Amino acid sequence: MRKKVIAGNWKMNKLPNETISFFEEFAPLVKDTKNEVVICAPYTDLFYAILSAQNTNIKIGAQNMHWEENGAYTGEVSPQMLKSIGVEYVVLGHSERRQYFAETDETVNKKVKAAHNVGLKPIVCVGESLEQRESGKAKEIVTNQVKLGLKDLTNDQITSTIVAYEPIWAIGTGKTATKEDANETIKWIREELVNMYGKENADKVIIQYGGSVKSGNAKELFEMSDIDGGLVGGASLKPDEFAKIVNAV
Ligand code: PEP
Repeated sequence: MRKKVIAGNWKMNKLPNETISFFEEFAPLVKDTKNEVVICAPYTDLFYAILSAQNTNIKIGAQNMHWEENGAYTGEVSPQMLKSIGVEYVVLGHSERRQYFAETDETVNKKVKAAHNVGLKPIVCVGESLEQRESGKAKEIVTNQVKLGLKDLTNDQITSTIVAYEPIWAIGTGKTATKEDANETIKWIREELVNMYGKENADKVIIQYGGSVKSGNAKELFEMSDIDGGLVGGASLKPDEFAKIVNAV
């Protein structure tokens, strides 16, 4: 049975003092959950988040990284740098990075491999735009992102990769995919993973839904057969609201 992983993506929000107060309030609220709880914080908050999460069941993730180990890449952060301070997860290929920072399936693939090389667990985002969904291209777009972004991994690497299905039109808009549509798209993703890595490996991959998840819709989404938790943006900024989402199932 796959574990549910509920990850908060803070995006470019919160200062260190706000990070510390978040954990003071949030940690006691989620201490009894059996779900994996992850907070993906901005770089400048990571160290504070790691210290605040000590002796709790909360794991810390970053929101991006470079694929190289080190070198002349001004402004970038390497997988080793994240690993060395205790980061365990990293979000890769978020649609905002694809849209505003020219992230491609090719760079996502390099980053996925680089993350695994140092033992970071990647949360790889895929998802279609509204136009692509309305023109019946969602399946092609999403499965292609999976095919290219997750190619040439070992069995151990693919089974410790998390995929987040995030329809772009549902991110930060208040519009959520219906639970049936989200579940169906996640099934397409798993079918593609079966083609690439075989059923035994594909069945182990955790596939989350993301896009305007809130305490009011989390339970119905996370109870669907193929939805293994969520990647949560806006609603992960408030400790009580995010705790309700974590504790929804
Ligand atoms: C996200 O940023 O990954 C996300 C799903 O955002 P929101 O929950 O705010 O739609």
